Amino acid sequence: GLRIGVLALQGDFREHLHAIELTGAEAVGIRRPEELDGLDGLVIPGGESTAIDKLARAFDLAEPLKERIAGGLPVYGSCAGMILLASDIADPATDLAGAPQQTFGGLDITVRRNAFGRQRESFETDLEFKGLDFSATENGVPPVHAVFIRGPWVERVGTGVEILAQVEPADPDHASHAVPLPGTARIVAVRSGHLLATSFHPEVTGEKRIHELFIRMIRGEA
Ligand code: GLN
Repeated sequence: GLRIGVLALQGDFREHLHAIELTGAEAVGIRRPEELDGLDGLVIPGGESTAIDKLARAFDLAEPLKERIAGGLPVYGSCAGMILLASDIADPATDLAGAPQQTFGGLDITVRRNAFGRQRESFETDLEFKGLDFSATENGVPPVHAVFIRGPWVERVGTGVEILAQVEPADPDHASHAVPLPGTARIVAVRSGHLLATSFHPEVTGEKRIHELFIRMIRGEA
């Protein structure tokens, strides 16, 4: 069977460990560099990207992680995990010494943190999500019910980065729309080769298909 690590420094790693177990794979919390050995994939959870960044550097995990990601280790990042996989942050936080937060990189995207604004920091909406055909019913592919908690969006995608889901702008005729976005759709899920990232948290809703997609990517089935 597959052995999937979940970076367990901060954030909602327990929910991801559970979501991975539901796919039938073995799930292991990762806190030390040597625990990266023998993994078939890794999940970077939601939480606080600045905290995970600092702890990863303090525990000497950041450099080995960067090397593994660059070397082809499949990684799925949700929310803070998406930020940590991004090559660029539009609005990086700085610490008290003025040093900007760092990422592990690997995904050629620019993210904006806490992008959906203060009034609507957290919201839920249904998304069309590409690549979930394996879950199709006679009515097509059921939408993904997505929970956003101070999530980022993707402002730029580089070459080879596929857009899997977007939050559509508000329709004035549907005042109940969860997100009053002006103008254009916002990218909230992407894939590039062995890397998958979502702005939202499938691990908190019982939505199993995103983790299943990740397992299929690892198996070469997606
Ligand atoms: N806003 C957080 C960050 O910048 C992400 C929030 C989350 O993971 N739910 O890291």
